[in-house]
Amino acid sequence: AKEPMRVLVTGAAGQIGYALVPMIARGIMLGADQPVILHMLDIEFAAEALKGVKMELVDAAFPLLKGVVATTDPVEACTGVNVAVMVGGFPRKEGMERKDVMTKNVSIYKSQASALEAHAAPNCKVLVVANPANTNALILKEFAPSIPEKNISCLTRLDHNRALGQISERLNVQVSDVKNAIIWGNHSSSQYPDVNHATVKTASGEKPVRELVQDDEWLNGEFIATVQQRGAAIIKARKLSSALSAASSACDHIRDWVLGTPEGTFVSMGVYSDGSYGVPAGLIYSFPVTCSGGDWTIVQGLPIDEFSRKKMDATAQELSEEKALAYSCLE
Ligand code: NDP
Repeated sequence: AKEPMRVLVTGAAGQIGYALVPMIARGIMLGADQPVILHMLDIEFAAEALKGVKMELVDAAFPLLKGVVATTDPVEACTGVNVAVMVGGFPRKEGMERKDVMTKNVSIYKSQASALEAHAAPNCKVLVVANPANTNALILKEFAPSIPEKNISCLTRLDHNRALGQISERLNVQVSDVKNAIIWGNHSSSQYPDVNHATVKTASGEKPVRELVQDDEWLNGEFIATVQQRGAAIIKARKLSSALSAASSACDHIRDWVLGTPEGTFVSMGVYSDGSYGVPAGLIYSFPVTCSGGDWTIVQGLPIDEFSRKKMDATAQELSEEKALAYSCLE
């Protein structure tokens, strides 16, 4: 039998946390043969609710779940974890300035970086979900210098999956037959969902999405806007932000990272830019990646047209500005 892996979820009493922890305990993140010990962190304000979540995890009698740590102490939460999913963050409230939200999150991610650096298992993989996800991940990286930069990422897999979902609806094909969409850049409305390299499996082989859709105006307009604005559409419909899809895509992100992407398939991950595709180095930017042996690699050599170039540069520009704002909050 495999040794249990320890998985940290911060903000575990929140709505994404509530959807995510049972998925982890059922083996959806790390595999049906991988026992897990859940570490759940939340703030004092949510401590009672967190106890309730722990009670439900016990009541669900998950066979793979070998233990639950529920705590408000970051050191206890981070100790020995192999995977850290950072969902906790300060929400933007009505009337708050961007800088005020950034200041709160910079301070949260700075202190959690230190706790992870000092107490997580060696080679711990970190996924930041809380917004602004790319910049929170960058702050975490800066303040955890001994964690390899390749181990720190942010979530754009939900946006990636939303792009696959829109194509599948439009073409009336199974979503599992659609692959290789790309989310470039920031997990914000400046992200660029790109289907220039996406394909659909058909009876006569793999076909490019553009060839099947035959409507560039839709692909370059409404499709992009729908993916960019999907979070807002869900808030409008549900009166709450997306949670089950965010949780599910966090599992996809970690599962593919740890267990590998299928041959011929790439996925989107927010990772530390090495300057690939002319994206400034030193930003956490979403790229197409393949994963193998527990490591991601940016897919190289994809041709980029002028339309894409502009959109990739615009979202990079937004990230550079967020980075500058985050640094100004540290002073
Ligand atoms: P959610 O669980 O709904 O969301 C958590 C974070 O994920 C938010 O930052 C949210 O961003 C972000 N997020 C990223 N992608 C998505 C997506 N596609 N859809 C929805 N959200 C997304 O928030 P809750 O308020 O229910 O829970 C947050 C938890 O964090 C609470 O339990 C709270 O106690 C805890 N918390 C921890 C803090 C700390 O660690 N110091 C500080 C404050 C809160 P967005 O805000 O843009 O929706």
